[in-house]
Amino acid sequence: MLATDSVSNLPGVGDKRAELLGNLGIATVRDLLFHFPREYQDRRDIAAIADIAEGDTVTIEAEVVKSRPVRLRRRLSLAEVTLRDASGEIRAVWFGQDYLARVLKPGARGFFTGTAGKWNGVALRNPDYELQTGDEDDLINSGCIVPVYRLTDGVSQRMLRRLVRTTLDMVEPLPETLPLTLRNAHAFPEPNAAIRQVHFPDEIETARAARSRFAYEELLGIQIGVLGLRAKRHREVKRNRHVIDGPRLRDLRASLPFPLTAGQQRAVDDILNDMGSHRPMVRLLQGDVGCGKTVVALHAIAAACDGGYQAALMAPTEILAEQHGINLRELLAPLGLDVAVLTGSTANARELRERIASGACDVVVGTHALIQEKTRFHNLGLVIIDEQHRFGVVQRSTLVDKGYEPELLHMTATPIPRTLAITVYGGMDISVIDELPPGRTPVKTRRITPAKVSDLYGYIRKQAAKGFQTYYVCPLVEESAAKQLTAVTKHFEELSEGPLEGLRTGLLHGRMASSEKDEVMHWFKRGEIDVLFSTTVIEVGIDCPNATTMVIEDAAQFGLTQLHQLRGRVGRGAEQSHCFLLGKPKTKDGMKRLEVLCASTSGFDIAEADLELRGPGEFQGLRQAGLSDLRVADLILDVRLLDAARRDAQAILEADPALSKPEHAHLAEAARAFERVYA
Ligand code: ADP
Ligand code: MG
Repeated sequence: MLATDSVSNLPGVGDKRAELLGNLGIATVRDLLFHFPREYQDRRDIAAIADIAEGDTVTIEAEVVKSRPVRLRRRLSLAEVTLRDASGEIRAVWFGQDYLARVLKPGARGFFTGTAGKWNGVALRNPDYELQTGDEDDLINSGCIVPVYRLTDGVSQRMLRRLVRTTLDMVEPLPETLPLTLRNAHAFPEPNAAIRQVHFPDEIETARAARSRFAYEELLGIQIGVLGLRAKRHREVKRNRHVIDGPRLRDLRASLPFPLTAGQQRAVDDILNDMGSHRPMVRLLQGDVGCGKTVVALHAIAAACDGGYQAALMAPTEILAEQHGINLRELLAPLGLDVAVLTGSTANARELRERIASGACDVVVGTHALIQEKTRFHNLGLVIIDEQHRFGVVQRSTLVDKGYEPELLHMTATPIPRTLAITVYGGMDISVIDELPPGRTPVKTRRITPAKVSDLYGYIRKQAAKGFQTYYVCPLVEESAAKQLTAVTKHFEELSEGPLEGLRTGLLHGRMASSEKDEVMHWFKRGEIDVLFSTTVIEVGIDCPNATTMVIEDAAQFGLTQLHQLRGRVGRGAEQSHCFLLGKPKTKDGMKRLEVLCASTSGFDIAEADLELRGPGEFQGLRQAGLSDLRVADLILDVRLLDAARRDAQAILEADPALSKPEHAHLAEAARAFERVYA
């Protein structure tokens, strides 16, 4: 049987079962073999019930003698089941799962794994259980270390174990895809022994080692793909190098109102190096909210203009584009550069487009309006994408295509764990700004219980009296934009007329016309609004140093990264800023998120925690890097392997850039597959 055959070729798998397996993402024989156990149960030692003492964690093989649901209080019920083996009897209880009394009927036999605690004497508390169903042979379900798989309705552990066992005996041998030198260097087992150990291990330890082998293999393939793409780009030669010591750049440097931080300086150096070199720049500028990415971008713009090129900066929202427009004009207009802002609501758009096409505008800041068909440039030499994760690959490349080999600078404040950044953005060169400008006081973050909310209103009033401003954010309710609207308008109305009466309040949400939004934002920036009620439209990039208080209603509704970015709207001046988190988390994870946020202000630490809480599936950018649908590897558990794979991939590509050596044939195939999807 071939690994590529459909699972319906396996004995005992008809259309129905094949469909069920499909729900687990298993279509081929190979898929089945790579459906790895999520854990193992050591059933080599089956305990005798008579020997169990309180505190022991054991597996027993037993028969159900009695079972009954028990109702304790209004909200608390449990199932109490008496189990028996040859040596004696013990009770097992499942709290909050009284329905199990119906599932575990007298006469049922099975395995129960759990810890013995106290419940009217010694009892197994909430043990895992697995019932035996009848006459199947049991050599793979007991007396050994048994695999425990992720299941779906209609597929049982026993069924999967049987299928995998059969498959292992029938399938053609797996080819060795790792170069032997690497396999030996890491002391990995050969693939056929390894795949058996993954499913039916001799020891838990050998299962781990075997799994590592496959995780490494997967990560190596991706790294080869990422680094291969990057190397290919580095071999490209552009026609024109940029001028990096021209008058605009010099004047910009002289006119900056503050010295650059060391991180900013490094980023500027990286960028100018790229621009002055023979290779096209594809660089990511990564730095926490408020670290000052815009001024770094300004250096690139000045350099591009020195060479007679146009520069474009694309931002995800109109408010942001407007803000960039104002900031850029302030510093670039004195250098004699013409800065235009083009958004969906630009009044004289047609005229402006003509000026852009003729080259009368040097710098164009805008939203998606920049990538519309009718927007044409005279000679676009630099493309900057702010908050790059908010744009799709196609949108980004559409803007690039409007120039002739323009330099490309991505900017992002989405913190990503250091360990991942090199992989996620592996195809780009990366500059990291890892410090905030001096003079900032870290934001203090606290949870506010309902009882204390009135104190909060008093605090907001005091801040307003001192001339400081407050953001009041209400959560995004994804299912219903209308509901979200009521949330924010309701708060706005109730608080404006109640506890915050007399303060100048404003309202901002996504349903407003852009001109209205801009107007409100401008008032806020000018200090004419004390409290701005808003949805997450203020999430990215807004810079208003005079705002010192951030209130987040129902904070647990937000993701950790989003909370961090919201908080980043304050703490931009020298004054101590505060972030207040309202509402009661409904889940443990929600609670944990708020705790993390209260404990840390470092975007990197928060990203690290976010990754642990949510798993990597949610991370922006991971998909793009081919990492969101990892089959075996786990980005949290396998960070060491990821590092090793990165280093090995680098060495391989240095020694054999075209991957033409026979031992690299499989890697070459992985690289081609990667390119097909991600190039
Ligand atoms: P972000 O990286 O989040 O886009 P911005 O570019 O909006 O950050 O900068 C945030 C604020 O910090 C701006 O008000 C900017 O003028 C200020 N800033 C940037 N660099 C420095 C610096 N080196 N020293 C002092 N203030 C700075
Ligand atoms: Mg920004």
